[in-house]
Amino acid sequence: MTAAPDCLFCKIVAGDIPAEVVHTTESTVAFRDINPQAPLHVLVVPRDHEPDAAASAAADAAMFAEIATTARAVATGEGYDDYRLVFNTGAGVGQTVFHTHCHVLAGRAMTWPPG
Ligand code: 5GP
Ligand code: ZN
Repeated sequence: MTAAPDCLFCKIVAGDIPAEVVHTTESTVAFRDINPQAPLHVLVVPRDHEPDAAASAAADAAMFAEIATTARAVATGEGYDDYRLVFNTGAGVGQTVFHTHCHVLAGRAMTWPPG
């Protein structure tokens, strides 16, 4: 699967919907979340549409690894050595966009367990 019709993040990847893109790689696009939950809140998405993290990992393991290295590049590039990565998977835990995305959060104290 590459792009899905009516998928918000596929449209951002294609440039059809504007976003503040901060980093791109061959397989990923990173852009600022429209509703940031921390001073740094970027979403790293694969260019190829899959509905969630496990589906992306199964489809292309190397691409999935690129999400993690891209997330680190984004965080360290903005001066954060410590950051939190979140893949909400399923509506029951808050996934609202069903195109794989990694939340990169940094810049404030964070609690554990998460809410
Ligand atoms: P989820 O809840 O699925 O884990 O995360 C989806 C994220 O996408 C949310 O944090 C939400 O703020 C963000 N988001 C939703 N629509 C847009 C948009 O049009 N542009 C950007 N940049 N982020 C969006
Ligand atoms: Zn998509």
